[in-house]
Amino acid sequence: MFTSVPLLLSRTRVICDPARALGRIQGLTMKKVTAETLNELLGIPELVVIEYAFEQQGDGAIVHIICKHRYDVAVCPRCGEVSASLHESEMRCVRHLDIWGKMTLLHFPSRRFGCDKCKTPFTEKLPWIEKKRRQTSAFERYIYQRCQQTNKSAVAQSEHLHFKTVLTIFNRWAKRAESCHHRPLVRRLGVDEISLKKGHRQYALVLSDLDRCCVIAVLSERTQKVFAQWLDSLSVVERFAIQVVAMDMWRPYRDVVQLKLPQAQIVADRFHVMKQLNDRLSQVRRNLQRNADEQTRQALKGTRWLLVKNRADLTADEETRLCAALDASPTLRQTYLLKETFRTICEKISDREQAARFLTAWIWQAEASGIPQLCKFANTLRNWWSEFLNYFHDRVTSGIVEGLNNAIRYVIRRACGYHVFEHFRLQVLVEHGGLNASH
Ligand SMILES: [Zn+2]
Repeated sequence: MFTSVPLLLSRTRVICDPARALGRIQGLTMKKVTAETLNELLGIPELVVIEYAFEQQGDGAIVHIICKHRYDVAVCPRCGEVSASLHESEMRCVRHLDIWGKMTLLHFPSRRFGCDKCKTPFTEKLPWIEKKRRQTSAFERYIYQRCQQTNKSAVAQSEHLHFKTVLTIFNRWAKRAESCHHRPLVRRLGVDEISLKKGHRQYALVLSDLDRCCVIAVLSERTQKVFAQWLDSLSVVERFAIQVVAMDMWRPYRDVVQLKLPQAQIVADRFHVMKQLNDRLSQVRRNLQRNADEQTRQALKGTRWLLVKNRADLTADEETRLCAALDASPTLRQTYLLKETFRTICEKISDREQAARFLTAWIWQAEASGIPQLCKFANTLRNWWSEFLNYFHDRVTSGIVEGLNNAIRYVIRRACGYHVFEHFRLQVLVEHGGLNASH
């Protein structure tokens, strides 16, 4: 049913500088305006434009294009026989791509033919519009592409469409792209969980191909069972192709990987490890803030991002505020400095043995500090020791894991969060699933 519609326009670069076009037209073959001009510009070879009219509505105009069919025959969808016996014809109106910035409506007869061979009537199938749609395929493709860069309510508003129409178009085209997509084997798998809405506890499990930097699946729950089921759904070849799994430090994921992908090396990715340490640091700050006197509380106020941020990236003003906060509390200072040391180890060392030595020393310092949050983190590190050391073996993963994580967060933010998991899943796959690359 969908085969006649090319999935996406090719993404070749278009030179659109009008000043340059002045020179470029010299090389083009110019055509005189004829009766065929409108047909050609419409881009639907099966239709012939017979009339058109402008209708003024508010500030804008609508272009009505009245067409007839170029051929008087149709092909029976059951037997493939050509039929010329028209049974009935009724005018239909659908939305098409804007013509020169004006909303464009296409009027054409919807025809029913009788098949001499099957002896049953049929509605003719048109290659440029799908059954029962109120928009041409070209217009739907345009809406689908716009939804890949901006949120659907903005598209609905600017195109004068109902939000639901935009949503339906997007989901249909996205599902089609997904079903046509052939996924290559994955060598390095990323496992990450993401909250669908800020402050809500609904999470999705995002699986990605770290070599191709794209998302391969979005699962509705971040549970061991759902992850295991997904791995089971892979073929033996697909499973054995996976050599590395970079993941959040969550034991159930590790257990599943060890069971289902015994050949794969597990990597506790730096991005996730660092995130956990930053969370611990934030806990320390919150506790201090809660129990501090007024002066200390003022110094700690609004320092959350200053503490988490890479120190080298701070502005002079931020650095001053950070110093004031660190001066206000020795515990915070100690935690912060250990966090920065940890970050430096992660950044500078690329050798597993060396990393082991530095991290051992770091754990010793963290535990000696007696700060409960740091001791807890040190304990996590011990539990994920070899997995985290694996990171120093194959350091490339971190940037990709972080990049994809940020990209997906942006999708969520742009939509102000998702209530319907399926809508989220399709949006992420369309934008970051590498679906378009295969066409
Ligand atoms: Zn037939």
